[in-house]
Amino acid sequence: MQNCPRCHQPITSKAVTCPHCGTVLKAFGHPGITLHRAMGDTPLCESCTYHADDTCTFPQRPYAKECTLYTDISQPQLKTSQTYAPRRSLLESIKLWCQRNPALLALLGLVAVSFLLALLATA
Ligand code: SF4
Ligand SMILES: [Zn+2]
Repeated sequence: MQNCPRCHQPITSKAVTCPHCGTVLKAFGHPGITLHRAMGDTPLCESCTYHADDTCTFPQRPYAKECTLYTDISQPQLKTSQTYAPRRSLLESIKLWCQRNPALLALLGLVAVSFLLALLATA
C-alpha cells in the first residue's frame, strides 16, 4: 500500500488518480501511457531491454512488477536508422538550412559584403 503524495491517504498501486483528493498519480501509470504488468512472479526487468543493457536507473529495478518503460527484449527493436534516416546530399542540406535560417543567411551575407567592402577600402 502506498500513500498519496498530497493527502497522504493510503492508495492502491493501480490507482491512476487518488480516490481521496483526486491528485493524478503520474508515477503509477498515466492515461495514454501503457503500464506494463508482470505476469506471475517473474519481475518485468528480467526480460527488459534496459535491464539487459544496464541503462535503467529506476529504483524498482530489478524487481519491477509494473513499469511504464518496460521494453521486451525478445521483440525486435526499431533501429534509429529505420525510424529516421534522412539521406540528403550536401547541396540539399545547405538548401534546407538556408530555408530554415533566412535571418542567419541575411546576416552572413551582410558580414560577407562588409568584409569585401573593407578589403576594397584598404586596397
Ligand atoms: S525499465 Fe522497468 S522493467 Fe525495465 S529494467 Fe527498468 S524497472 Fe525493470
Ligand atoms: Zn490524495
